[in-house]
Amino acid sequence: MTKEEALRLWKSASWTELAKAAHEKRIEIHGKKNVSYTVFRIINYTNICKIACSFCSFKNTKPYTLTLKEIHTEALKAKKQGANGIFFQGGVNPDIPLDYYLNVIELLNKKLGFPVRAFSPVELFHMAKDNKMPLPKLLQKLKAAGLSSVPGAGAEIMTARMRKILAPKKLSAKEWCKVMEECHKQGLKSSANIVIGSTESPEDIIEHLNYIREVQNKTGGFQSFIPWVFQPQTSAFPIRHVRSDEYIKLVALCRLFFHNIPNIEVSVLGMGKALGELALYAGGNDISSVVLKERVMRSQGIESIEEAEEFIKNAGFKAVRRGIDYSQLSLIL
Ligand code: SF4
Repeated sequence: MTKEEALRLWKSASWTELAKAAHEKRIEIHGKKNVSYTVFRIINYTNICKIACSFCSFKNTKPYTLTLKEIHTEALKAKKQGANGIFFQGGVNPDIPLDYYLNVIELLNKKLGFPVRAFSPVELFHMAKDNKMPLPKLLQKLKAAGLSSVPGAGAEIMTARMRKILAPKKLSAKEWCKVMEECHKQGLKSSANIVIGSTESPEDIIEHLNYIREVQNKTGGFQSFIPWVFQPQTSAFPIRHVRSDEYIKLVALCRLFFHNIPNIEVSVLGMGKALGELALYAGGNDISSVVLKERVMRSQGIESIEEAEEFIKNAGFKAVRRGIDYSQLSLIL
């Protein structure tokens, strides 16, 4: 699908037409039966951030940076709850030394045995800059400490127009893509996403999807793509209601546009269960994860393994528990 075709479909195709085509495509790639999920704990290690995105509520909360001991305690709790990965992410806090990151990753991976997905491109970019270290060298150090993949966070909508509104101090599309390409080159796979629900135009949406597809054509490092909707966290940026049909249409378009990204994750956390279920019939093949703790967003998601399996079964599929890196752990019949 070309960019122009995608734009035409986004503007004029009905959501039902796109959902039908996307579901067929999903069956072609993943079969009819399986829907995967994973279980991870999110640890937001600091809410201090010099970037100040307009949509982020971190700046309105009491500043904190977790100690190694606090992280250890959180991780042990996650282990007891059956988490098979840790998602470690925070603000861009220039006062944190590099050793903190290396020690934490080592603790989580080497000592506690968790696969660790950590640090968005914006965190990595500034970590390299603040430590006056070339990005490849930083990534090698983090990987040696135990980092196994990186999240696709911090992309939202990367056109220059939307960046000015949402996050003028964040990475440009070019910078974000360069960091991701380097992560993939160093063997750190990732996800990617889009967040809609502000003043983005159809052109902004397609341009954003195209940035991601071009990186994927070069590296093959994106394992999944997640369409999201902005959550009302602050009043400092324009937010609009995204109707259910628009969300479903976006999921479907992503499945059809990304011939080169195998997994499309459905955001049950952001969109709720009913819409999540429908999205599994519109191109989605994964319900993202059971999130055991989430400080950034209000959660309407799935909070236990049993709930995830029941949700998938009720939606008419078999639940496949996967690793945070998409390795499959078990098939629940
Ligand atoms: S979204 Fe991320 S980069 Fe932006 S202000 Fe919040 S923590 Fe910082």
